[in-house]
Amino acid sequence: MPVSEFSLIDRYFAAHGLRRPDVALGIGDDCALLIPPAGCCLAVTLDTLVADVHFFAAADPEGLGHKALAVNLSDLAAMGATPAWATLALTLPRADEDWLGRFCQGLFALADRYGVQLVGGDTTHGPVITITIQAHGFVPPGLALRRDGARPGDGVYVTGTLGDAGLALAAAFGKVGIAAEHESYLRRRLERPEPRIAQGLALRGIASAAIDLSDGLAQDLGHILECSGYGARLEVDGLPRSPALTATLDRDAAMMTALTSGDDYELCFTVPPAGAAQLEAIAATWECRCARIGVIEAEPGLRLVRADGSACHLERLGYDHFG
Ligand code: ADP
Ligand code: MG
Repeated sequence: MPVSEFSLIDRYFAAHGLRRPDVALGIGDDCALLIPPAGCCLAVTLDTLVADVHFFAAADPEGLGHKALAVNLSDLAAMGATPAWATLALTLPRADEDWLGRFCQGLFALADRYGVQLVGGDTTHGPVITITIQAHGFVPPGLALRRDGARPGDGVYVTGTLGDAGLALAAAFGKVGIAAEHESYLRRRLERPEPRIAQGLALRGIASAAIDLSDGLAQDLGHILECSGYGARLEVDGLPRSPALTATLDRDAAMMTALTSGDDYELCFTVPPAGAAQLEAIAATWECRCARIGVIEAEPGLRLVRADGSACHLERLGYDHFG
């Protein structure tokens, strides 16, 4: 790699201040040397964002830095893991220092809030901006929030509101008009998702299963159902929706968006009836909403029920990259 790129790495990535005692050696050698806590499981996850597939190439780099890390921290949250370290593979068409500086601002602002240290990575030239982050966290054995633990009778819950990111994306593509008063809220929901780390940690020992919502509620809850071997009934008129979503879309379009649009990065989880009161007490302290949206049933499949008890059918289930 040319000398100028070593200095870029030094200036933008190695120079950043945060130091964790469990990082024996960070950026600058052939490998980072990390000291995981004794007896803990290491939770490892990786997500890639590709220009013009996952974001507009001209998108605000600060937002990209935030989102590239946020989607990985969201996976740690959905596992009930405490975030610790990250690595970053960056492919750039050119060494644009302004872009890098702002990307790092977004990345490190979020990393610092959760005490995450960037410990290494790779920087390469390539035709389009590609951002890959691997995040590492810790979870005590037996306490991880897996997808396979839901049982009939467990309540189905979600954090926050659903469909905002999908609505923001539809607006960006000119498919729907949104009132000026909702614009900044919706853009924030798409570009600056807040990983539900505190919620994931609080759900250890309470939730029987969990997943983060990247591809839409119907599809992502479907993974819990498949892994657990059961089905669910959802009360679709009770799905938590923001004022922006309700004001923009009619009842059916809002429901479809809440059920099938991706990129919300909220948590969907299940809790046995015995834990419902404890969950309610804990969720009362959260800065985001927590809504009970349905129940796990023995019969496989997802059943959607309206407030009047009538059944409802989905035309399509979430976003499928190869669909
Ligand atoms: P090598 O050729 O041994 O893989 P590199 O030249 O790719 O080394 O990287 C030099 C050092 O800088 C390594 O410690 C690597 O982890 C770190 N590094 C490179 N790119 C990044 C990046 N985008 N973010 C964080 N660290 C990086
Ligand atoms: Mg390398």
